[in-house]
Amino acid sequence: MLETLTIRTQRTTASRLEHLDPEHIEFGKIFSDHMFVVDYRDGEWQEPQLLPYGDMTVSPANSALHYGQAIFEGMKAYKNASGDIALFRPLDNLHRLNASAERMCMPQLPEELFMQGLTQLIRLDSEWVPNSPGSALYIRPFMYATDGFIGVRPSESYRFVIFTCPVGLYYNKPLRVRFEEKYVRSAEGGAGFAKNAGNYGAAMYPTKLAQQEGYNQLIWTDASEHRYVEESGTMNAIFVIDGKVVTPALSSSILDGITRRSVLQLARDWGMQVEERKVSAVEVMQALADGKLEEAFGVGTAATIAPIAVIGYQGHDHELPKPAADAFSLRVSEALQAIRTGQAADGHGWMVTV
Ligand SMILES: *Cc1c(COP(=O)(O)O)cnc(C)c1O
Repeated sequence: MLETLTIRTQRTTASRLEHLDPEHIEFGKIFSDHMFVVDYRDGEWQEPQLLPYGDMTVSPANSALHYGQAIFEGMKAYKNASGDIALFRPLDNLHRLNASAERMCMPQLPEELFMQGLTQLIRLDSEWVPNSPGSALYIRPFMYATDGFIGVRPSESYRFVIFTCPVGLYYNKPLRVRFEEKYVRSAEGGAGFAKNAGNYGAAMYPTKLAQQEGYNQLIWTDASEHRYVEESGTMNAIFVIDGKVVTPALSSSILDGITRRSVLQLARDWGMQVEERKVSAVEVMQALADGKLEEAFGVGTAATIAPIAVIGYQGHDHELPKPAADAFSLRVSEALQAIRTGQAADGHGWMVTV
């Protein structure tokens, strides 16, 4: 375990834990009692604190609000049968946060500050980590500019915060998606590989249009030709074509998902052929027509695996075969769940005990 960093702690005097109904948790609405907060100014991270979860004030001239200097992460902690809590690949989240920070001209967060803040926050709110099947504690680390200055330049001060919310079993209703051939989520050379707030804001309008047409989300295509698959909604996209696991290769326009990375690792462990390369919409539709598209799914922390049931392409909807009981997506989803809850061996050292 890490050396303990002393973090000034102000405990809540009004815990909301008794209002938590672990059987009916609505995603993203119920927040645990405390949050971790640390400010950056004068070129240094200041004293970290654990505080009651609550509103934070900002200057009206806050540059994150005007110019979008804001980044975030999404990760989960799991409680096993003996009540121990563990995080899934937390250093991968830190490394990605720091990659996002670099792209957005924000300061790097030291590993010790991140890991100590994270683990001490979760220990303080350990009662909030649910343990019913499929549940977890969703963790939202984020950083934003705090200068009250409307000139356009990187802020000189920032705040890094972590808050958490318990989440219940995620029901993966098979998705209806369509290829997007007009709007783009991100372009080569842009900031699509970074988890920055603006990527999400700009994706909302095209997603809303697709939802009005009866789809759940979009399959984004590349910005220059609209030919190649990028991602599926806010998840990475994976296909099983003719027994092979095929996924778009990473680029500056694709977010390097930790679930994607983990799913590909398990596929390789199981001796499957994995191809990270360009995947065109035409290839996917042709494979479907030829009966070779066995599975298509999105992967990300919130849902783990979100199977795709229908793909819309150039005005027509195409139904995918129903995944077999031994489908890769189901097996990999169960394997990840078993590792996370300590029911299966953690051969890659992915779990970090809190
Ligand atoms: C966060 C995110 C993902 C998934 O990443 P995970 O680390 O697997 O949760 C995929 N695409 C986008 C655009 C994202 O923001």
